[in-house]
Amino acid sequence: MPEKVTIQEASRRLNISQDLVRRYIRDGVLKAERGGGSQGRSWMVELPQDGWVDDAKLSYMTLDKQLPTWWWPEPEKMGFVHYLESTGIEELVPVFLCGLVSENIWGAEGHLPQQRCQECVLEAQARGLSL
Ligand SMILES: [Zn+2]
Repeated sequence: MPEKVTIQEASRRLNISQDLVRRYIRDGVLKAERGGGSQGRSWMVELPQDGWVDDAKLSYMTLDKQLPTWWWPEPEKMGFVHYLESTGIEELVPVFLCGLVSENIWGAEGHLPQQRCQECVLEAQARGLSL
């Protein structure tokens, strides 16, 4: 059974703003229902499983076009970071410039230039994309 919490608590636990929690509820990204008992008529939000936040944030960030360019294709953050071409907003499947497809992406803040996938770099340069 998923844990149900108030919007305030969901905001804290998911590390997103209460406004965003409400937006997710409205858009059906988060499940919620009017709570009973001591919570009165306030919304009770079903806490999603671990890893959900990244997916949801990713889709909204993509819509807002604020997505950074370089990402790790795996949580271990080993090997190379890749240049994100698209995330397939519907399916949330990230596709990188070199053709690599991964299940999810992990932030690559602070990565070194030599950690960049060379195929992605060459493709980006060929397309005139900023690195
Ligand atoms: Zn690549």
